[in-house]
Amino acid sequence: MTRTEVAIIGAGPAGLLLSHLLHQRGIDSVVLEARSREYVEHRQRAGMLEQGTVDVLRASGLGDRMDRVGLVHHGIELRFDRRGHRIDFPSLTGGKSVMVYAQTEIVKDLVARRLADGGAVLFESEAVALEGAESDTPLVRFRPAAAGEGAGGPEQELRCDVIVACDGYHGIGRPTLAALPAAGLRMWARDYPFAWLGVLADVAPSCDELIYARHERGFALHSMRSPSVSRLYLQVPPDADLADWPDERIWDELEARFEVDGDFKLGRGPITEKSITPMRSFVCSPMRHGRLFLAGDAAHIVPPTGAKGLNLAVSDVTLLATALTRWLRGGDPSGVDNYSQAALRRIWRAEHFSYLMTRMLHVDPAADAFDHQLALAQLRYIASSAAAAATIAENYVGLTSV
Ligand SMILES: Cc1cc2nc3c(=O)[nH]c(=O)nc-3n(C[C@H](O)[C@H](O)[C@H](O)COP(=O)(O)OP(=O)(O)OC[C@H]3O[C@@H](n4cnc5c(N)ncnc54)[C@H](O)[C@@H]3O)c2cc1C
Repeated sequence: MTRTEVAIIGAGPAGLLLSHLLHQRGIDSVVLEARSREYVEHRQRAGMLEQGTVDVLRASGLGDRMDRVGLVHHGIELRFDRRGHRIDFPSLTGGKSVMVYAQTEIVKDLVARRLADGGAVLFESEAVALEGAESDTPLVRFRPAAAGEGAGGPEQELRCDVIVACDGYHGIGRPTLAALPAAGLRMWARDYPFAWLGVLADVAPSCDELIYARHERGFALHSMRSPSVSRLYLQVPPDADLADWPDERIWDELEARFEVDGDFKLGRGPITEKSITPMRSFVCSPMRHGRLFLAGDAAHIVPPTGAKGLNLAVSDVTLLATALTRWLRGGDPSGVDNYSQAALRRIWRAEHFSYLMTRMLHVDPAADAFDHQLALAQLRYIASSAAAAATIAENYVGLTSV
């Protein structure tokens, strides 16, 4: 049997960053991760960091590689009616910007740093039960990898003072909390009638900043990971099958949706990764009961149109690291008592922004011509009014107080 102060479930950005921040405050933790190190370091996901996320990473000593290879962006383009309209962040937000730096790279930086600092990150170790949340002696049962195999060795126990489930939308933290009647867990969800087909391609980006395009054929996003790697997305039906999307069809469809009056040319290159992601909004409350806490995607999901998921995970664990330190070191429970409420204010703001961007930029198959005209009217308003553009800009770079 092993013991630690904080048992963290999940080595995504939330779990790893929490472990790092706690270490810097002198608090011991163990991170249990069901998947292999190789898998978590190469899982393609987010790439757009708010100013506040960049600040947290820099302040905690994780900014070096990000500042060397990340791309600072000062705006985005909204493309519709065959024209592009730039939203300029610094002039609309008092000088703020965002950073393009892939989640895979943040996870690599965090894993390397935790291991260099002697941190315990147990890969291929799946948490199978979280017990004693309502007691002073919580316990995690986990199944570590048998030698040379994946997770599945004999079950072990990890005793701790606190459990933080950073185990994503499909983890065991939220179901465990939901099964405790005294927690009074409430959940809100919305599924959208479309999904994103995302590709990673070995081709230089065809633009300097992200392009969010609304076209009558559906939404498309042009993003990038580096000066030689592009990340592109297409709106597809939720039941779309990758087998129906050979590379040429993807490029043709992207080209059609980015079409513009002017000289834009979409560069094509080898596609190295393809996936389909459903679009969902989800929030649960409270995010803590007794000694069990939730953070990141375990507690909330946003459709990726607003680029908020990773940023919310970072803001949850930043709050939690301070709150847990005050509680475990100073005996002051005010931060942990207030954690859920403070996190949820920001989460609902991001939920609203992500919903707004999603509805405005996607073509709902059930929508009629009236709905389509309303979406275009909203986009034209943003393109022509500094006040409307400022609403998009300040939410995109991240509101510091909500
Ligand atoms: C296509 C796509 C694009 C996105 N784009 C953006 C973007 O531009 N900007 C942005 O901010 N966000 C974006 N996101 C969202 C972002 O990737 C997530 O919000 C982020 O990964 C959340 O981090 P997390 O640590 O909470 O959860 P996760 O990254 O999901 O990590 C959870 C971890 O827990 C592990 N786990 C689960 N169950 C167990 C268990 N029982 N025992 C042990 N380990 C377990 C999992 O294996 C996983 O490694 C995007 C997401 C997708 C899918």
